[in-house]
Amino acid sequence: MSTTPLDQLQDLREEYATRVTKLRRDLSQAYPSDSAEQAQARENDEVMEALLAEASNLLTQVDAAIERYQEGTYGVCTQCGEKINDARLQALPMAQACIDCADQLSS
Ligand SMILES: [Zn+2]
Repeated sequence: MSTTPLDQLQDLREEYATRVTKLRRDLSQAYPSDSAEQAQARENDEVMEALLAEASNLLTQVDAAIERYQEGTYGVCTQCGEKINDARLQALPMAQACIDCADQLSS
């Protein structure tokens, strides 16, 4: 069975979307009335908010990659226009930049 990059992206999209939904639901729960528990709940919320931000960010990246796939520009670096290395795409299907440009973007 072979999976295309689009299959992978759609799987990832599903995974992140589920994560976002679950975190949003957890975050919307009311705080316990006990103040010690409340402090703990607030701390948990901070962790969940960070996870939610991360998952939303990943979801945005996957959506953008699916869009590029549909436009036929998937696997092409958005910075320099070179083809992105296959190994990199396998490890990070939503990569939008080649390894060289990604290095420059993150530094
Ligand atoms: Zn590049």
